[in-house]
Parts: sequence; structure tokens; C-alpha cells
Amino acid sequence: MPCFFKYPARIYLFTSKLLRRILVVGVMEYANEKVKVAINLLEAQFGRQTWFSDRKAIDQLIATILSQRTNYANERAAFDKMWAEFGSWEGIMEAPVDALTAAIATSNYPEVKAPRIKQVLKQIKSERGNFDLSFLADTPVEESLNWLMALPGVGHKTATFLLLFTFRKPVLPVDTHVHRVSQRLGIINQKTNQAKAHTVLLTLLPRNAEALLNYHKLFFKHGQQVCTWSHPKCKVCVLSHICAYFHANQSLNDKPINSKPQV
Ligand code: SF4
Repeated sequence: MPCFFKYPARIYLFTSKLLRRILVVGVMEYANEKVKVAINLLEAQFGRQTWFSDRKAIDQLIATILSQRTNYANERAAFDKMWAEFGSWEGIMEAPVDALTAAIATSNYPEVKAPRIKQVLKQIKSERGNFDLSFLADTPVEESLNWLMALPGVGHKTATFLLLFTFRKPVLPVDTHVHRVSQRLGIINQKTNQAKAHTVLLTLLPRNAEALLNYHKLFFKHGQQVCTWSHPKCKVCVLSHICAYFHANQSLNDKPINSKPQV
């Protein structure tokens, strides 16, 4: 009669696989629960986020490039001045680099962005024959991401931003704020970089544009206003009771204002 106990190596393998699986499921459930609590608390603070872009896709793409390391008012001023000076995408594409650099000077790093904008427009024109990006609405997500990221200087964050905010596709732009807050809370671990965070966070969030936009905007606002890079305002943070960073550094801080039990 066959005896299971004759095979200790198999038993060991089976048990360790099972334990690993239980651990992964447990960690995911924990992160899932933390995401839900964080969203509820941030919604109570900032409101449900529902803003989608009503700009044309090409406008939004170039505006996103202008917005890198730049606040909204300065991006808008640069965009409007560029259009007032050159009058069309064709005109902007053909503009001398120096003149375009001067026109977008309210945006940070205009000397880098001006040649990049011209290159992006040139590539779109040569591939599509015009500046109409509406074909992306009917293109699968991965294909759209790859097409956009093949444009000069367009990375994953800019591509996902356009696909989510303009085309309402189920992707998540992970900028520095979203990444930092997700890490500090312990939703993603410290080794997860921005590119990988996109994949991990998508497994924890509903796959619809409304929910992903809400997460992005709430975490962005929280990172910008409360959980700042150098001086997080933990003592007034509504998430402190679920925050891994806060609990790990609690002995270094004053007694927390928010002392609800950890989720
Ligand atoms: S408790 Fe501090 S570190 Fe944690 S999310 Fe709030 S501000 Fe950021």
C-alpha cells in the first residue's frame, strides 16, 4: 500500500507552496482592506474625485508634457501662450526651438520640453498624417500604451494619464505622490518602483476608470497637501492609524492625535 510519508520532499514542497499561497492571499487581503479604508477616509476629506478631461487628446498630451514638474496655472499659461504665438499644431511643430522655448517659459524646463514637443508632433504627423489621436479610443489598452510610449520622451506616467483622463481607460497613472503615499501606507512595499506599482495597484483596485481616477486624484492630493516628501504632516493625517510609516516611526514622533486601532 502506498504511503504518503515515504515522500518527505514532496510533503515539504506541498506545504511550503501552500504556506506561501496563504501568505500571498493574506497580504493581498490586508492591502485590499487598507485601500478601501484609505479611500473612504480621503473621500471624506477631499470628496469623491470625478474630473475627466474635456480637452482633445492631442491638447491633453502636450499639456501633460508641459505639466511635468509644473503647477496647473503655469502649464495653462504656457499652453495658451504657445497657441497664441503659433496658432496651430502645424505652426508649433515648425516653430524655431528658441521661440517655442520662450513661449512656454512659465512651464519648468522649457528648454527640454520645446524640442520634445516638436519631436512628438513630428512623429505623430509622420505616422498618422495629422494630429488626431481619437483612434486610441478603439485601440486595446496595451497597444495604446506601447504606441504612446514610443513617442519621444513619453513615459508610462504620461501615457496612462492620457488614457485614463481623456479616453477613460482602466489604467492608473502612478506619479511621485501616488507612489509615495501608497508605499508609506504599506499598500505596496518599499522595493516596488513606480513602473511596478501600476501593476500591483491594479490588482487591488476595481478595473474601471472612475475608481482608478478617484484613487489617483485622492492619493495625489493627499501627497501634495499632507503626506509631503520631506515633512509629512502625520499628526493631522486622517490615515495615521492605518499607516505603516507612521507606526514604524511613532517613537520618533509626538503622541499621535489620531489614535484609532490599526486595520
Ligand atoms: S501618517 Fe504620515 S506618512 Fe502616513 S500617510 Fe499620513 S502623512 Fe503620510
